[in-house]
Amino acid sequence: MTGLEIRELTRSFGGIIALDDVSLDVHPGEIVSLIGPNGAGKTTLFNCISRIYDPDRGSIRFDDYDLVKMGPDDVVNTGIARTFQNVELFKTMTVIQNLLVGQHSRFSPPLRKGLFWRHANAAIHAFREVFACAARLPTSWREERLARDTAEEVVKFLGLEQVKNIPAGALSFGIQKNVELARALVARPRMILLDEPASGLSHEELGHLGEVIKSVRDEFRVTILVVEHHMELVMPISDRICVLNFGRKIAEGTPAEVQSNPAVIEAYLGE
Ligand code: ATP
Repeated sequence: MTGLEIRELTRSFGGIIALDDVSLDVHPGEIVSLIGPNGAGKTTLFNCISRIYDPDRGSIRFDDYDLVKMGPDDVVNTGIARTFQNVELFKTMTVIQNLLVGQHSRFSPPLRKGLFWRHANAAIHAFREVFACAARLPTSWREERLARDTAEEVVKFLGLEQVKNIPAGALSFGIQKNVELARALVARPRMILLDEPASGLSHEELGHLGEVIKSVRDEFRVTILVVEHHMELVMPISDRICVLNFGRKIAEGTPAEVQSNPAVIEAYLGE
């Protein structure tokens, strides 16, 4: 069993230690939540996994890949997709258009390790794209059709049919979050990093989102790591919870174990 394996991850910004020797495993098919007070280092951990930030020290492996040696685009090609705390959609594009753009990585050539293969893959991909566009080869039509079918399938799965032709920027923040989840899913990832999926949602919508996240895991067979402050969402969906405080992991366990851990109650959950 592989999945995500983080060891002794450390990252500072000036004098602030945002992540301090954090280790964490996320096994295939699990839903693991990352919780902790503001500034605890949760987003920094996501940004290190996505390779937006370089860790100062430590390792991050996903299946056979050493993510620390990769750039952000390569991480996407290993099968990891993510959503963002503040939503990063193309606001003037419709929902469907955003989902078509989100599939770009699906049609990239398979990732191989090493610098030579990175350059070779990029060259092969560029050649294929230019050649296919110029000649309108059937491959290009097939890929376009497949992309549209996948987008429609995910739109239906997430109940976005009524808004699929509306520009993303015209939708409520909660629906935009849902569209970001859709965009992550159309890339057919093996793992999704969800950054605060519940922000902007009402209490009733939280319950529904929990069911959606569990069904995404089951139907799309993806592993999910989620950063979230809403405990009404975290507790029922998580197989395990990891708690950060001032960059350090202070607890890890099942929802029941974490909920009754005195250090977690003191640092975050309260009485
Ligand atoms: P929140 O729940 O508020 O989103 P968080 O747990 O995600 O918080 P991070 O955003 O990871 O916390 O921040 C951890 C610490 O690192 C904070 O003290 C933050 O100010 C600092 N930090 C994060 N990114 C940067 C950056 N790019 N430059 C400087 N400091 C940063």
